[in-house]
Amino acid sequence: EAVCVTGGSGFIASWLVKFLLQQGYIVHATVRDLSVNDPKKVDHLKALPPANGMLKLFQADLLVEGSFDSVIDGCVGVFHAASPFYLTPTDPQAELLEPAVRGTLNVLKSCAKTPSVKRVVVTSSTAVVTYNGKPLTPEVVVDESWFSNAEILKDSKSWYQLSKTLAEEAVWKFAKENELDIITINPAMVIGPLLQPTLNTSSAAIFNLIKGSETFLNATFGWVNVKDVAYAHILAFQTPSASGRYCLVERVAHFSDIVKALHELYPRISLPQKCAGDEPFVPTYQVSIEKAKALGIDFTPLEVSLKETVESLKENGFLN
Ligand code: NDP
Repeated sequence: EAVCVTGGSGFIASWLVKFLLQQGYIVHATVRDLSVNDPKKVDHLKALPPANGMLKLFQADLLVEGSFDSVIDGCVGVFHAASPFYLTPTDPQAELLEPAVRGTLNVLKSCAKTPSVKRVVVTSSTAVVTYNGKPLTPEVVVDESWFSNAEILKDSKSWYQLSKTLAEEAVWKFAKENELDIITINPAMVIGPLLQPTLNTSSAAIFNLIKGSETFLNATFGWVNVKDVAYAHILAFQTPSASGRYCLVERVAHFSDIVKALHELYPRISLPQKCAGDEPFVPTYQVSIEKAKALGIDFTPLEVSLKETVESLKENGFLN
């Protein structure tokens, strides 16, 4: 059986492609521009066992109407992972909002008109869950019934979080109007080993701490391992009773706790001692993972994920 993975060369998608190939699927992976892109961008996918003949690479741009039609043709499942993830856009509308929202609808339209497609799994984010305006404190439990408020995110200029929120709003509207079977996977900050040769935004959050930042951010995020995230996509696709959204978070932790855990793992690495800014630490909160556990996800402990991240950064030459 064939399945499609959009943005196949990205951090999460590369693990998804790897696991799908291992499970015997034919994988149609899209990248934005096969011809001018650095060929290194897909070399790691081509090297995956058993990629030979089982992996088909396609060029598809989120913003080109119909770009995914021929890729999705004949696929039983579509995993839509492509979406720009960076935090400092110069033109948020063009760089983040357009590809996230219009790109998602573009992919979903191709799915809706392709009879072979049985289910679509969209990579969303806990950023689409957490920011509904309720204060986040240690006793608060966030779950899948929460939905972030686009106005709040716009006011705070949280463009990436806004792009994902508007995209997921569009997903549920489209699913309803077109009776398409769609599931969203909502991971927190994803870390763990890198398969791709470039440094993606969430891995960079750890890289920056160990590469000599003087301060750590005053921020509290959920953290989850990339392999668990990739596996959750596959379980969501394969489990007939799966539906709706799945929050994926192993631990909610302030950057000061991430620094502490890294120090315990690597006492000789120099780590930032101070928090950026003098405000009190942003409090922690809880995220319910009952639904993800019931799906079959066994979450990798944060300490293991941090160790895998650092070891992978070393192996890939990001650290000396
Ligand atoms: P990466 O940056 O590694 O991957 C993003 C992918 O999106 C790349 O393959 C990129 O292709 C593709 N993409 C971006 N813009 C376009 C475009 N205009 N047309 C086609 N493809 C495009 O990030 P991640 O693996 O971390 O992210 C994958 C998904 O997971 C995203 O939807 C992200 O929002 C979501 N997510 C990530 C989290 C994390 O912590 N990493 C947490 C929660 C959700 P190209 O290489 O050509 O730029």
